[in-house]
Amino acid sequence: MKKIGVAGPSITELEISYVTDAATNAWFADHSIYHQRFEEAFGKKIGTKYAMALPSCTSALHLILAALEVGPGDEVIVPDATWIASSAPISYVGATPVFVDIDPKTWCMDAGAFERAISEKTKAAIVVDLYGGMPEWDALEKIANTHNIPLIEDAAEAVGSQYRGRMAGSFGVVGTFSFHGSKTMTTGEGGMLVTDDKILFERAQFLRDHGRPAGDRFFQNTEVGFKYKMSSMQAAMGLAQTERLDELVERKQEIFSWYKRALSGCDDLVLNYQPEDVINTYWMVTAILDQSIGFEKLDLMERLSKHGIDSRPFFHPLSSLHAYEKTEQAIKAQQINKIAYDISPRGINLPSGFQLDEENVKYICEKLLQIIE
Ligand SMILES: *Cc1c(COP(=O)(O)O)cnc(C)c1O
Repeated sequence: MKKIGVAGPSITELEISYVTDAATNAWFADHSIYHQRFEEAFGKKIGTKYAMALPSCTSALHLILAALEVGPGDEVIVPDATWIASSAPISYVGATPVFVDIDPKTWCMDAGAFERAISEKTKAAIVVDLYGGMPEWDALEKIANTHNIPLIEDAAEAVGSQYRGRMAGSFGVVGTFSFHGSKTMTTGEGGMLVTDDKILFERAQFLRDHGRPAGDRFFQNTEVGFKYKMSSMQAAMGLAQTERLDELVERKQEIFSWYKRALSGCDDLVLNYQPEDVINTYWMVTAILDQSIGFEKLDLMERLSKHGIDSRPFFHPLSSLHAYEKTEQAIKAQQINKIAYDISPRGINLPSGFQLDEENVKYICEKLLQIIE
């Protein structure tokens, strides 16, 4: 039996025709024709002045930390419950991640925890729009402004989401996206950095191209930088996906609505949160089991797997991972991040890919309910 996968893209003739054209024509003098169209279309969707296509969201975060001159001795605040790509770039620049607790409803960075974690070493904070949901941006921005801390928005999981009429990616000084194959919008592998800040954007552009001044054709590098670019074929796919973004987002919301309907009678779990002023794009439909159910996510995943259903665990707190074992910040976080440590063991991501139909979702929910009852 073929398993129902947890993710999967939506690829149509449009993507195939653009990628074919890029592979055929976008070379040398024309190498960036698709990058330009992709960046312009994507920036317009998000509502930011500048957009830069990159190989991944991880590289976008690395680049922006470097552009902000974050380095050794500095601290960067990050939510404890997220993919490690949100925090790993903090180590790339030699700074220290400070893991803070999440809000019990949004599962994103808690504003109070953010404020309590600020020290004189805090150089930036990376805020994550987890699973397509949004944190309390108003509160976070107010705190950041008071303490003069630049916010970086990791919107890898939230393309198309909105908070009080503003698009995910447009908060803070810079927003970053991922177009990894599992994400709502994909280029296979890929990412994007968006901002309204011209100086920061130009600095990032310089650093992503081996420290070459703009327009350099004579290999006159003035600093040691990085090489962070996307291929034309990926940019072509990204353009097609951007043109189809509204459709992709609607489909994600439809998939969520099937789950919501099928699980509506069940009080033993909660799904992704969408308050009045938020548009959640549900990158991953996520269920948190009630404490009374009494079994853990890996156990539940195993049982679903026996019915041919693939799933993923809610992100483990970063401070619980071997990667950060015995670091001072991880030990501290383990003690104070009560919400992350309470929710994470009880949460799983259910299949949320574009290949799903309502029958699949009904089957998944039926098995899920059988297991927990
Ligand atoms: C997927 C993801 C990333 C990393 O994206 P890549 O393109 O794989 O580098 C970063 N942050 C979050 C929250 C993600 O889900």
